[in-house]
Order: sequence, then structure tokens, then C-alpha cells
Amino acid sequence: MPIASINPATGETIAEFDAHDEAQIEERIASASAAFDTLRSTDFDTRASWMRNAADLLDADVEEVAELITLEMGKPLAQARAEVHKSAKAMRFYAEHAKEFLAGSELPDPSVVGASRARTTYQPLGVVLAVMPWNYPIWQVVRFAAPALMAGNTGLLKHASNVPQAALYLDTLFERGGFPEGSFRSLLIPAGRVEGVLRDRRVVAATLTGSEPAGRSVAAIAGSEVKHVVLELGGSDPFIVMPSADLDAAVSTAVTARTANNGQACINAKRFIVHQDVHDEFVEKFAAALGALRMGDPLSDDTDLGPLATASGRDEVAGLVDDALAAGAEAVVGGSTPTGPGWFYPATLVSGITEEMRLYREEAFGPVASVYRAQDAADALRIANDTTFGLSSAVWTQDPDEEDLFTRGLDAGAVFVNGMSISYPELPFGGVKDSGVGRELSAEGIREFCNLKSIWKA
Ligand code: NAP
Repeated sequence: MPIASINPATGETIAEFDAHDEAQIEERIASASAAFDTLRSTDFDTRASWMRNAADLLDADVEEVAELITLEMGKPLAQARAEVHKSAKAMRFYAEHAKEFLAGSELPDPSVVGASRARTTYQPLGVVLAVMPWNYPIWQVVRFAAPALMAGNTGLLKHASNVPQAALYLDTLFERGGFPEGSFRSLLIPAGRVEGVLRDRRVVAATLTGSEPAGRSVAAIAGSEVKHVVLELGGSDPFIVMPSADLDAAVSTAVTARTANNGQACINAKRFIVHQDVHDEFVEKFAAALGALRMGDPLSDDTDLGPLATASGRDEVAGLVDDALAAGAEAVVGGSTPTGPGWFYPATLVSGITEEMRLYREEAFGPVASVYRAQDAADALRIANDTTFGLSSAVWTQDPDEEDLFTRGLDAGAVFVNGMSISYPELPFGGVKDSGVGRELSAEGIREFCNLKSIWKA
């Protein structure tokens, strides 16, 4: 894949970049390694002031950065602006809380381990490699970089090949805020060059957000090097609707949950599992609302749904729908690829899905909702868990017993009751099963790339 910005709304190439050569990669690894020696000896307050500066710069750059995001990957401009501000907010969150999250603890009675004092402390690990996707080109990176840098680590970013301008913006952001030179740098390299970087002895850990095959590959390399890895992979999140739910609220939230970011978020709701008593009414209202979305130029304020980010991504989504329709499923709304420039795909609702269809098992990374009819709560839970993924989930019910059943029983990293999955700096984020290992955000996220050291004194 070339390292290039290609406008998904038109298919036009905006800018192409040469991949870094071996000497440039070496210079960046060496610089990140040297920066670690400096950064690890700075205190939290100093790092926090640099992080706040960087957050202010990002907020001030919102128009430039939001337009860049939209032109590179196609999300509606208002959502791109929101992504920029959310990223700055997370940077301030870690500036404020890193010290408390990494305070460590004291054993109240050290005599139980024969010590006069026994305590723990969190210390940074070193240079961490971040392999990141294009779907939230700023947010995905910041939610790694902010905690990693606040802990005293340094970072190397291998961003997705279709968002090089976002990568170059992030290449300077933290240094502009005051962090030492080399603290956070971008590597413009194809996926095939990740292995060499990860095997470098100066790179001590890795995080990858992206697809399951990419995650398996990076985890295998990290495993063979005995290096810590965090994986945030795909999802096919269930959105369960029970008869006691506020149906209109569920429908309107379902539309956002499925189509935000043009349907290309790991935590978009993808499978709508609806109790038989409200199934037909839900489907009718959901289909009408999806059909009313305005698809078009993502730079226009009137647009709800922009193009998919890549031609191959659009083909993949269309292929999943076509496979289901050919095997007897029904497109209640949408379901066909528009002609014309750009990689658009309409909001689509597919019913009548059976286990043989790809749509039953695979993640639809675009605005395609699958709907399933559940006999009762137990059946809804069974369908929800019948997936290899386990990222997040949502359940709509007013019944406390059902709430208990789903919040306990769903195999997922999160359950949102009467709402939709959203990432917050304050809440841990991550999955189970094939959706990944480890957690980002919150106190857990900053501790992932730390050495939890026990200190025992006679
Ligand atoms: P992808 O192909 O896995 O790409 C993600 C990143 O991994 C890119 O930087 C890519 O580089 C790199 N990459 C790809 N194959 C690799 C390999 N074998 N070794 C090392 N690096 C490799 O993912 P995508 O299709 O762009 O993104 C969609 C997927 O990401 C979906 O499954 C989605 O659910 C998931 N996702 C998960 C989360 C989460 O937090 N759980 C968030 C967002 C997205 P190139 O661009 O150069 O190929």
C-alpha cells in the first residue's frame, strides 16, 4: 500500500510520501531511546505542563486538523472536530491524573513479609511502538501517547499508510508542547517494516489497534521477543433491545451507534438483537431512520454519512452484504453500491441472516446493521455471545433482572445499559476473546506500559 493521502470522497490523490529508509528509521529509534533517558528523570508536574501545552496546541489547530482528517479518511467534518477536542481532553485528563494513577502503594503491615517497609512503584518501560489505524487518526494515537508519555515512556508511531498527514502532524505535536526531542516520533513505514522495528532491542513493548490478523502478527513477534503487547482489535458489538425499552430512544441511539464515523468504529453497534415482541416495530423505525440519513460530501455540514475510507474497505463491506443477499437475506434499506466517484456505501439494514452467511461471523466495517429476532432474554444473550469478538455491547431494558442477566452474561469488555458504547478517558477500554488483550484509558491504560516494581526493605 502506498503511503499516501487519497480523498475517499473523490478518489483523488492529495499527497504521496516516500517511506523512511533504514537510516531514517535508525535515527528515530535512537532519538526515542535517548529521549527516554531524559524523560524518565523528569517529574510528573513537568510532564503535565508539556502535555497541557500540547493539548492547547491541538485545540488551537482544530480547523486545520479536522479538515485534514476528513480529507484523508472521510468522516464528516463535525465528527472530525469532535475527535480533535476529545483528544485534547484526554491529554489534559492524563496530565491531571498520571501522578495519582502511578503513585504505587504501601503494605500497611510490612512485618508480614519480614520488612520494615514494603511498597510498590510504577516506573516507565522505555520506547514503545504504537501501530495505529486510520479510523480515528488523532484519537487512537493520543489515547496511547498521552498516558505513555505521562508515565515517562517515549513512543514511536507507525500510523496507517492512508493517513500520513495525521502521522506528520502528531510527529511534532508533543515536542511543540515541550517534550524532549525524540519523545514521540512517526515512522513512515509500510506494515512489512514493523517486524524489524519491534525486534530492535531498544523497543521494549508494542501496542496495536487494528484488525485481528495484524494483531496476531504483532503479538507473535512480540511474544517471540518476550515484549509486552496491548491489542485493541475488531468488534461485532451486539445492541440488544428488550420490550421494556424506550423504543424511540433505542432507535435514535441505534442509528448513531451504527453509523458514527461512517460505520467504521470498532465499537459501533453492528448486530441488533431485538426481542420478538418489539422486533417488527424496531426494524420499521430503524430502517426509516437509516434511510433518512444524508450521504455525501463529508466537508459539508449537511452530511450525516461520508464515504468509506478506502476502496478495499468499501468492497469488503459490499461483499459481506452481497453474500448475505445471495443466500436469502433481505436488505430492508440500502444494500447496493452507488455509482459515481468516491467510496460511498449507504446505510443498510439486513434481516434474515443465518449462521452460514459471512455477515453472521465477520465484522462489517461500514454502515451495515444486521438485525436478529430473539425469542426471549436468554436467546438474545445466546445470539449476542455467539461471536469470536468481545469488545463492547449495549442493552436496552428497564427490567432489573434482565439488566443483571446481560451485564453479567455478555462476553465483552464493556456493557452500556440504555445507551451506546463510547470511549471515555475515565473508563477502561478493551476487549476479550479475539477483540484483544490489555486495556487502554483510565488508570489501567497508563499502567500497561509501566514496570510495577516491589521494593522491600529489611
Ligand atoms: P489494519 O489493516 O489492521 O491496520 C491497522 C494498522 O496496522 C495500520 O497501521 C496497518 O498498517 C498496520 N498493519 C496491518 N497489517 C499489519 C501487520 N501484519 N503487521 C504490522 N502492522 C500491520 O486495520 P484496518 O483495516 O485499517 O482497521 C480496521 C480494523 O481495526 C477493524 O477490525 C476495527 O474494528 C479495528 N479497530 C479496533 C479498535 C479498537 O480499539 N479495538 C479501534 C479502531 C479500529 P498499513 O496501513 O500500512 O497496512
